[in-house]
Amino acid sequence: MLDSESLNNVLESKVIPYQEAIKIYQKAKSDPSELFLAAQNLRTKFKGNTVTFSKKAFFNIINMCRDTCTYCTYKSEPGEEKLSMMSKEKIKEMLILAKKYRCVEALFVTGERPEQKYQEAKDWLKENGFKSTAEYLTFASEMALEEGLFPHTNAGNLTYEEMRDLKKTNVSMGLMLENVSDRLNQKGMPHYLAASKRPQARLEVLENAGKLKIPMTTGILVGIGETPEEIIESIYAIKKLHEKYGNIQEVILQNFQPKPDTIMKDFPSAAENYFKIIVAITRIIMPEMNIQIPPNLSPKSYQNFLSVGINDWGGISPLTPDYVNPEFSWPEIKKIDENSKRAGFDLKCRFPIYPEFFSFISKELRDKMELIEDKEGLVKEEYWR
Ligand code: SF4
Repeated sequence: MLDSESLNNVLESKVIPYQEAIKIYQKAKSDPSELFLAAQNLRTKFKGNTVTFSKKAFFNIINMCRDTCTYCTYKSEPGEEKLSMMSKEKIKEMLILAKKYRCVEALFVTGERPEQKYQEAKDWLKENGFKSTAEYLTFASEMALEEGLFPHTNAGNLTYEEMRDLKKTNVSMGLMLENVSDRLNQKGMPHYLAASKRPQARLEVLENAGKLKIPMTTGILVGIGETPEEIIESIYAIKKLHEKYGNIQEVILQNFQPKPDTIMKDFPSAAENYFKIIVAITRIIMPEMNIQIPPNLSPKSYQNFLSVGINDWGGISPLTPDYVNPEFSWPEIKKIDENSKRAGFDLKCRFPIYPEFFSFISKELRDKMELIEDKEGLVKEEYWR
């Protein structure tokens, strides 16, 4: 049980200091009911009974990666069957198809700077007329806008200049913080061979996104060997960034699921109760934040997370797989709609940028959005249903 002072502070949206969050976590381990109720009340207070998602197509632009995370199944080596290098023609074809399926978001994903490690990637970019993956992404984003889709790029640790260029076409961008603890980069830990996952490197990119006023999606990977304290510190690190720059539009909480072809294949999935407590704690630390869990990673129970503080399902594609979690297909949007309704929520489609951040982007991008936008800044039903 939470003590009444903590609970009152939570409900009055007072700032919860780190030590108090730790105490709340410890108490919730034996009985999370009060924490869950407080998180639910805060979600209702700030987000009402709406749950949003972004209808997207996932563009797996290039999945070679200079890093190695021990849980990753997305990364491909040259010659592997899952290798993806999308040509301009393939991107165009997919954009046209995505529009037919009434997708709104073009999610562009790549591995971390493939051209720095793989000659194949370097040559392929050169043949297409580009010096870097980031340059290709700028080109692909322009194509998406021309076809009436809104780009959201998640391509690892981009530089300030690369993000500045992408900001012209991308309504928002994404970079998972993963975790703020250096311990996860030590020998034997998941990020040991992933220099780009060093917390300092990630924080720098998120700081640059803040300076550039890019609406940013970030988040935490839950269950990869971290301690609860490290998770809670990571939530505070995101909160701090948002207080400084005001540009964190959403926090994704992603529960670890082991993948068969990885070093962590025998590591257990994040326990559901632990994950729920983390979701609820995030809501009480950042009461007004948009908080998302991916429904495909909790296929049997995702709707239960509506009662612990989330207000978004993230990007869902009716067309493409989740290439980062290929074993977990997205539930049908119709099914998510039904399950959300049953839990008392209205499912609405948002742009890859949340309405609170519209003032961060250019008039050109806003003009394009307005063509399909409703009064609340969401996508008009007739453009996505
Ligand atoms: S998780 Fe990202 S950075 Fe890590 S190996 Fe996979 S693609 Fe590379």
